[in-house]
Amino acid sequence: MQKPLIRIPYTGPLPAPTIIPRFANSITGAIAALSTFLTAPPSHLVHHQHSSDPKSTVIITGAGISVASGLADYRGTNGTYRVNQTYRPIYYHEFAANHEARKRYWARSFLGWTNLHKARPNPTHYAIKSLGSMGFIRNVITQNVDSFHSIAHPDLPTLELHGYLRALTCVSCHNEYPREEFQTQLSKLNPAWDAFLAEIIRSGALDTENPDERRSRGVQTNPDGDIDLPGAPYTKFRYPACPHCLANPPLAGDGTQTKVEIDIDGAWKTTSTAGILKPAVVMFGESIAGVVKDAAEMAVDGSGRMLIVGTSLATYSAWRLAKRALERGMPIGILNLGGVRGEELFFQNLPIGQKGEAGVRAEQASDRVLPGLVEQLRRTGFHGHKEHQSVAQHLQNNTPFKDMLS
Ligand SMILES: [Zn+2]
Repeated sequence: MQKPLIRIPYTGPLPAPTIIPRFANSITGAIAALSTFLTAPPSHLVHHQHSSDPKSTVIITGAGISVASGLADYRGTNGTYRVNQTYRPIYYHEFAANHEARKRYWARSFLGWTNLHKARPNPTHYAIKSLGSMGFIRNVITQNVDSFHSIAHPDLPTLELHGYLRALTCVSCHNEYPREEFQTQLSKLNPAWDAFLAEIIRSGALDTENPDERRSRGVQTNPDGDIDLPGAPYTKFRYPACPHCLANPPLAGDGTQTKVEIDIDGAWKTTSTAGILKPAVVMFGESIAGVVKDAAEMAVDGSGRMLIVGTSLATYSAWRLAKRALERGMPIGILNLGGVRGEELFFQNLPIGQKGEAGVRAEQASDRVLPGLVEQLRRTGFHGHKEHQSVAQHLQNNTPFKDMLS
């Protein structure tokens, strides 16, 4: 029996990184090292592991790459946990068990959605698209729930390890519903909040991409798309029930009939025993579905190296994928501002004088380095390894992974 993979944040401090190779301590140095990393012949260690495409790279991304899109990161650039000290993400067990916790979650999510919904991918996402079409990157694994990868590069397979905010899922029947329509329902059920949201939009607090400026206007946004409002009256917030469960109340696990009841306006009532909607994200304390875990492992095993961008690998689910790559002998590259959990493990026993082919650690902004890397690879005439297998072929041969695509 496999252990379930639970999403839990690692909040300890992380030491500053050692830059590898040493010349990767500038934007141009990082570009040069990553260019060598992506174009080097496959590591001989990987050959023994039967990787299906040892020349290709799997990329793992995290909240750091969405900062340039105006979304908050979990960590400051010095690697300490959370710029906003009062932020504590909601845990799944609280959400599932507690009506009060859900009201608070949905009120904050209601306010945060506008900002998330209008945010767009940034040069990091588009550079990844280019690296994919040039044949260097075959799979993207992201911990982000903002859907920017699938918007920026719909043709490059992306596995969303922690789900996505663009949909809701029912805890009872697992049907999915679009988040955008849900927002309209929340507006109707909570007119006072709707008016308040209109007011903060008018104030311009959501227009600025500067988190400090937002804070100074009384609004704190968080990476999972919600907003902090100290002292807000969450207890009056209302949210709808799952329409499917409302029409067909499901049987509970023990075979008894559940009930789903709503008030006169359509809000979920506490007399209900099912039909709770949750965001289609893997909440903290929730397990990642087995099929997603398997697809992520397959994406790692199918590649010859791993590039980690904009993440401190704080969640065990992401960290263990990096560890898996290491154990398979895959060269590892890290591009992240601030320390990465256990990173010293990834760069032990590198050959002396290596220029990036065996490992890279750079601490530069990905929205500057990756577009520069694409340009550099184009200039030097590298076209990657696309001829081996097209993305479409790959998808056909890879059904469980295809199911994860959105
Ligand atoms: Zn349902």
